[in-house]
Amino acid sequence: MIAEGKTTHSLEAASPFELRVNQSANVPESAVKTALRTGDIGFLHSFTTGSTVDGPGVRVVGWAAGCHWRCVYCHNPDTWNMMNGMPVTLERATDELRKYRHGLKIMGGGFTLTGGEPLMQDRFAVRLFKAAKEMGIHTALNTNGHLGERLTDEELEHIDLVILDIKTWNPEAHRRLTGKDNGPTLDFALRLSKLKKPLWTRFVLVPGLTDDHNDISQIAAFTAELGNVERVEVLPFHQMGRYKWKELKIDYTLENTEPPASDAIERTCQIFRAAGLKTY
Ligand code: SF4
Repeated sequence: MIAEGKTTHSLEAASPFELRVNQSANVPESAVKTALRTGDIGFLHSFTTGSTVDGPGVRVVGWAAGCHWRCVYCHNPDTWNMMNGMPVTLERATDELRKYRHGLKIMGGGFTLTGGEPLMQDRFAVRLFKAAKEMGIHTALNTNGHLGERLTDEELEHIDLVILDIKTWNPEAHRRLTGKDNGPTLDFALRLSKLKKPLWTRFVLVPGLTDDHNDISQIAAFTAELGNVERVEVLPFHQMGRYKWKELKIDYTLENTEPPASDAIERTCQIFRAAGLKTY
């Protein structure tokens, strides 16, 4: 049995940029395995409220701990390790959403589960989305898509919107950028297209790393072809997570990388627009 919430942090954080570590350090491995199998308990960095950038309207956002990618620009490396997340029962997470359900509806918002990579905890994610839908709350999953096959088509019905990160096109560059192949992400996008699931995609523009014109054009062509993409979000790289890399003593290779200039962002948006996509 996991002792829930034995931590110095509250579930709600002012911002995901709060560094949170070792919140589940004392949870036995067997209990973690059971939690992952059943989804009775999730491991969360935090909940934040009032987000206007993680799906439509104003949203409550759950930040799942655990990610098997190692993006060199990740701004939340404290979410890589699931044990940095706080053990939270499904019931407690559901109660948290229940508190906000009326306000979320009035503000045309909903609940977004992001991370980390939420599908590292796919059973918890599915059950929490189902509970949210039963309360009439709009649901969104922000994912790198690599573990999309863990969800059945029926389970995807509990998710109103998928926000999919497409990080770069060239497979070699993708491995250098994230440590993983992009094939499963693209396969998941194609599957969501077949299911006609509303999809937003995200692309992080990092000078010198993801700004190759040809690469972006290929992502734009692929994205446009899907037919279910409502918007593409071009996110400029920033350094707000840099201090976390230092605190966690992880080698950070982008120390001297500047955020992209506004004309570079505009040029990137233009590539997506030229393919017939809406960008934000
Ligand atoms: S997929 Fe997201 S959470 Fe995982 S390493 Fe990349 S940016 Fe960080």
